[in-house]
This record gives sequence, structure tokens and C-alpha cells, in this order.
Amino acid sequence: MESSGALATEGIGSSALIFLGTGCSSAVPNAMCLIQPSDPPCRVCSQSLVLPPDQNPNYRCNTSLLIDYCQGDGKHNYILIDVGKNFREQVVRWFTFHKIPHLDSIILTHEHADAVLGLDDVRAVQPFSPTNDIDPTTVFLSQHSMESISEKFPYLIKKKLKEGQEVRRVAQFDWKIIEVSCEKPFVASGLQFIPLPVMHGEDYVSLGFLFGEKCKVAYVSDVSRFPTTTEYVISKSGAGQLDLLILDTLYRHGSHNTHFCFPQTLEAIKRICPKRALLIGMTHEFDHHKDNEFLSEWSRREGIPVQLARDGLRLPVDL
Ligand SMILES: [Zn+2]
Ligand SMILES: [Zn+2]
Repeated sequence: MESSGALATEGIGSSALIFLGTGCSSAVPNAMCLIQPSDPPCRVCSQSLVLPPDQNPNYRCNTSLLIDYCQGDGKHNYILIDVGKNFREQVVRWFTFHKIPHLDSIILTHEHADAVLGLDDVRAVQPFSPTNDIDPTTVFLSQHSMESISEKFPYLIKKKLKEGQEVRRVAQFDWKIIEVSCEKPFVASGLQFIPLPVMHGEDYVSLGFLFGEKCKVAYVSDVSRFPTTTEYVISKSGAGQLDLLILDTLYRHGSHNTHFCFPQTLEAIKRICPKRALLIGMTHEFDHHKDNEFLSEWSRREGIPVQLARDGLRLPVDL
């Protein structure tokens, strides 16, 4: 079901969403399940020892989405949401598989390690220049994320060289601050995005994004609670029904202080009532085929198709 039910008929010149990563911050397989296996061993993680990643939907890199945005002129713009710890692996696997030749812009949800630590490696997908004389990639981020990145990566913030200092090749960025408000849309590579502030723990605001004119898509990767104003903007009973909701789910059971787990994710989907939903951010507690069978049942009962996404999934969508 995950590859059928596309939101657009695939053809030359169509836009698509490419799931570069659908896993939690420590990614799947969980390293401890491999180096200190339990008895019996973790079913999900031990699959990574016998199946190559591209045949293993339980192999999950840090959550990240690539929007292949194709406007009327047939030109493709590639917009990346989040650049986590696995960015380089995601490029090597999925940019090649889906023939992505470059990146046009980057949008950050927040400044946690699994959303930003790949920024250094963006150099690898930029043209080579020993003098750093290239067009920078625009990064859209909140003021809070900007301050954190200035501390994590001071060398990625452009400064004049001091006298006698050698030029070293680093990724080139043009940093653009966005407002943490549903009222303040911004445009990245020709596509409009509405920021969706959400609680990611009660002491922290992360951003989701709403985009697409023909098909309305909301992407919310790190959430423990929806503020009322944000939920209104993406709800069928509020500003209008989404065609697709891409939503966080960390553990299969229970709850967590900084993320939705499966029960809260399904509750939120019922309230928001999109035409369709795909889940991301999963730990090794989720077993792709088994839990998608459970979700097929749930979807029939509730009338909203929901499935776990998987790394490498490409979904044609009319933006
Ligand atoms: Zn495991
Ligand atoms: Zn986070």
C-alpha cells in the first residue's frame, strides 16, 4: 500500500517527496542490539546483519525529507528538511538511487544533533572550490537554531580571514532566519512553507512545515504536543483537511516526554483527520511489515490510510 495511493500521477516533470530517513536520533539498527545482543536477539536490529540496507525497511537513518519540487517549466528544485548525523550515508544511498544531482536549499526543524550534525558534509554536494568561491546553499532556520549552530559550527558562519590565516574549504551557506509562527510563511526555492511550531518536550519548540498548493502536506518530525493554533492550521475541522500528514512516532508502546509514541500519534491523526498519513522517527520497536499490517487494519476501521514510511520511499505528489 505504501507505494500505491500516490498523491499524483507520476510523469516527467512531477514533484515528489523522498524519505531520506525515517528513524530516531540513534538510528536503526540500535548499536547495542548488535554488540550486546539479547537472548533471543532483537528481531528488527538483527535483520541489518543479514539484509543489505536497501532490502531492509527496518534500516532507518535520522529523519529527513527531500522535496523534489518541479514547477511548470520542468526545472527541479531540491529542498532538504534537516541534515542529520547520517546525511552522507543518505546522499550515497538515495541521491544516487533517485538521481538527485544537487541541493538547492535546506530547512531546519530545530538544532538537535539528529537534525543538524550533517551540515559539515553538505560540502560534499557543493561544487569544488579551493577558495570557497561558490554560490552558498540557503538554510532557513529559527533564531534559536542559528544561535546553537553558531556554537556547534563557528567555522560555517562566514567571517573575514585574519591576517596570515589559510583558506580552508568548508560548506558555504547563506543563513536565513524564519519566524516561529504559523502566520509567517517563507519561500524556499520557489515553494511556500508555513512554519508549524510544536512542543518537543514542554521546554522546547521545534518546527514542522506545511507546504503545497494543490496537495497540502504537513511534515512534523519532532513533537510531543500540538499547540492549539498549530493544530487548527492543519486540521480538517480547522483551516482545512491535509492531503498528507507526515508525523513523528518514537516508541511502539507507552509515551515519552519529548516525542509522540504510537498511541499519541494515532490519536493526533484521528483529531487532525488528514486524507492520508505516513509515520517517521521510529525506533527499533517498530517492525515495518508487521506494524504496517496492524496499521492496515486500523486504517480500515478509522477510515484514514496510515502506514510507516521507510528510508528511500519516493512519493509522487502534486505540489
Ligand atoms: Zn534492536
Ligand atoms: Zn529533537
